[in-house]
Amino acid sequence: MNFHSTRTSEIKISFREAVQQGLAPDKGLFIPERIPKLEKSFFERLETMSELEIAFEVLSPYTEGTLDPQQLKDILKKTLSFPLPAVKVSEGIYSLELFHGPTQAFKDVGARFMANCLAAFSRKNEKVTVLVATSGDTGSAVASGFFGVDGVEVKILFPKGKVSAYQEHQMTSLGRNIQAIEVDGSFDDCQTLVKQAFLDEKLRDRLSLSSANSINIARFLPQMLYYFFSYKQLRPLLHSKKWLVSVPSGNFGNLTAGLYAKHMGLPIDRMVAANNANDPFYLYWKTGKYKPKASVPTYSNAMDVGAPSNFERIQSLYQDDWRKLKQDIAASRFSDQQTVETIKKVYHEHHYTLDPHGAVGYLALREYMDNESIGTFLETAHPNKFESVVRIALPKFKAPETDLSLCQKISMSRTYGDFRNWLLQTNITKHEA
Ligand SMILES: *Cc1c(COP(=O)(O)O)cnc(C)c1O
Repeated sequence: MNFHSTRTSEIKISFREAVQQGLAPDKGLFIPERIPKLEKSFFERLETMSELEIAFEVLSPYTEGTLDPQQLKDILKKTLSFPLPAVKVSEGIYSLELFHGPTQAFKDVGARFMANCLAAFSRKNEKVTVLVATSGDTGSAVASGFFGVDGVEVKILFPKGKVSAYQEHQMTSLGRNIQAIEVDGSFDDCQTLVKQAFLDEKLRDRLSLSSANSINIARFLPQMLYYFFSYKQLRPLLHSKKWLVSVPSGNFGNLTAGLYAKHMGLPIDRMVAANNANDPFYLYWKTGKYKPKASVPTYSNAMDVGAPSNFERIQSLYQDDWRKLKQDIAASRFSDQQTVETIKKVYHEHHYTLDPHGAVGYLALREYMDNESIGTFLETAHPNKFESVVRIALPKFKAPETDLSLCQKISMSRTYGDFRNWLLQTNITKHEA
């Protein structure tokens, strides 16, 4: 399969090049040149197949030409090593728990898949240095996903004092090929340092740099698997009912992957885009006019995105046709107050503890459900990760303590020269390797 940019289909590149480049040269996002349809027989066999077998059949058309079948199987085996269960919350409503991975958020699957792809691409004695700026969640998923992967050195830049203790622990406690750098500045300063490094040609002559950004095709595509796994679990209950899937969304990578699954033939009736006060997608859905804006902080902070990067992938999937898009996607938005009320209500009525992101997903699903439908909402994070918000709803809720005493981090100013010198002094350059 070849990939091209959302902005032009002129330059076609392989899966490998798309993973290594991350973003297309015209700043568009990479997309596959077509979305393959799965055979009817695949869906007939689905219930008897293992998760690994399903994952292989779904992803192999995309990686063909870069990864041979055995390489893909090995990567999937390393990626899918924790359960993704669909848990019944109330009548007809299921929570697909994506938080059983090492960092308790759904980004684990994509980060691990990408790390193992990069390891498969790397030549003997060659080191790739992955730079990531993070405000919290991405850094922990990438740290854990890339931990111990041969040939890949990861540098995570996070703003000093601005990530939770839990997130800091996840980024700083691993060691080996993962280094956490605490920058004396803001998240934007971290991002600027990373961008400057990528633009620094002299540095790039000496270090082989890569990014683990969420728009990377190797993080994006494996998210399709959630929907297939969920279908495998729910199919015996579906009969002739319609299946709705609600996705708490920020950059819309996860939801767009669900749309890809639907286009491959998975019988999702409609996807529901669940948003907090960061609502440019919701307003587009309602009015047909798209206006990105600055993000506002909310309780479901992994969804605080004012300009969702995967909007371009959605638009290209529907050829900018708003009416066509509305046939496949419903949308809704909810306030922090509604989020907290829902955590409380669902706990008391159904004995299920939602995290703030899952709560928004649950609310959006409820809005579109009727007697003819069965619904799944994606529970994207463990409630422990958002203890302070969950406690507003459930004062007795308590997450396990995090111990920061064994953690290692490097302190850095926000001056690019300092960061550059450190990178060159402490890292194996291309020529030495
Ligand atoms: C990243 C994240 C989201 C948003 O996912 P997108 O693919 O960016 O829409 C939702 N919930 C949690 C917990 C996340 O970490």
